[in-house]
Amino acid sequence: MVNLNRTQVNAEGDLVSNIWPNATPAEEDRLKNFWGTCSSVPLARAGCLQYFETEARVGLEKPLNENVLLLEVGVCPKEERDIKHSIGGRPHAYCLDVNSCTTHEGICRAIRKEGKRVLHLPDTIPNTAGASGTLHYGIVYDDARKKIVFIDVKENKVMSTVDKVDSSQPLWPMFGVYSSGKSPVSMKLVVGSDINMTEEKKAMIVKALA
Ligand SMILES: [Zn+2]
Repeated sequence: MVNLNRTQVNAEGDLVSNIWPNATPAEEDRLKNFWGTCSSVPLARAGCLQYFETEARVGLEKPLNENVLLLEVGVCPKEERDIKHSIGGRPHAYCLDVNSCTTHEGICRAIRKEGKRVLHLPDTIPNTAGASGTLHYGIVYDDARKKIVFIDVKENKVMSTVDKVDSSQPLWPMFGVYSSGKSPVSMKLVVGSDINMTEEKKAMIVKALA
């Protein structure tokens, strides 16, 4: 499903944004509008919790203008996956956006629920030339409680617990990477035994879902 006009998958399996759009016509079974990819199956609506992490690498060649989107990770129904370059504005999407912010003069995080920003968290990396950082996020999906928890793994903190999640349609994990000038953004998925599930992290998730 990878949108090969806007992104590519490198030899290490990381999703990387293209600095220039690739003019190759999109193949039928690929995303054409969303800048990135989705999982091959939606999240199961089984009784158990589901959890995945992403690790992204962001570097700034120069300061960004207001509200430039760098990366996005979240979930949405099948029909909303490929309407736009991002799912952030879709009515049944739940996601974390990382974008530039002139208020905080930095790169901020936003949690978006059903098209609206419900949380704005400053301070990931500064919005200055040469700034770079690794951003490590976790997402928990609890179908029974209709909740999604967004975790900042590096900070070992829950950023937000979104409740009343509409899961009447299966939700698909979505991974978007966007370019900031000549600096590509890359993201990799961390699943299964690659996840470092510490007791501390487990306790944090249990608490966030309580
Ligand atoms: Zn901000």
